[in-house]
Amino acid sequence: MQIIQKGNQHTNSSSRDGHVPLAIVNHISGGTMGSMDAWFTSKDNLQSSAHFGISKSGIIHQYLPIERMAWANGLTAANIKKATAVIIQEEAPTNPNKYTVSIEHEGIDGALTEPQFTASVWLHKYIAAEVKRIYGKELLLDTKHVIGHFQVDPVRKPYCPGPKFPWERLYAALKTKEDEDVKVDKAATVVNGNRLADEGVLIEGRVYVPLAAVGKALGAAVDWNNITKTATLTTKEVK
Ligand SMILES: [Zn+2]
Repeated sequence: MQIIQKGNQHTNSSSRDGHVPLAIVNHISGGTMGSMDAWFTSKDNLQSSAHFGISKSGIIHQYLPIERMAWANGLTAANIKKATAVIIQEEAPTNPNKYTVSIEHEGIDGALTEPQFTASVWLHKYIAAEVKRIYGKELLLDTKHVIGHFQVDPVRKPYCPGPKFPWERLYAALKTKEDEDVKVDKAATVVNGNRLADEGVLIEGRVYVPLAAVGKALGAAVDWNNITKTATLTTKEVK
């Protein structure tokens, strides 16, 4: 999955003023990806922006770095109290833009295409990984921290990201750890100077090697009992 940079000097943003991103807010663009690109980079736009946009074909555009605040969910102090999302209530009276990352989805009613859904799941995980890398903090991908614009601003934006947005499927997908998250690699292992070519695997920084391979390298006899699932290593006496 790749991210195409689209922001320019006209893309609206502000400082996060020291706030760490705590939540992701999902939006629907209400128009085409082309019109979103044009609007978020227009000198005539003095009112809104978002960090990311995802097209129906599953292409991800980035308009602002995560370190900057987007103008995506701005609320007046009075309206912050009306937010239904727990995270917004807890952080009140802080402007939600200060501690959120916003994703726009190309579309009208919230229904996502398959490539768009796949890209959105990937992007949520990417954002959480970036928050961890940049700030050293966990952005949890759960119902409290992954929300919709309607939960931030139920007064002005009750239909963003739309009635067909796949919330249940998104939360389920964000719970599963994809294979690509787990780094599995071949590991060369050396025992007493004997290299066991490709006998080991490296899984998330830990090397796993079959006991039989190590035993043989040490000159031991290895007896495997398939009934008791026991490997017995008998070492020869070294004189
Ligand atoms: Zn919105």
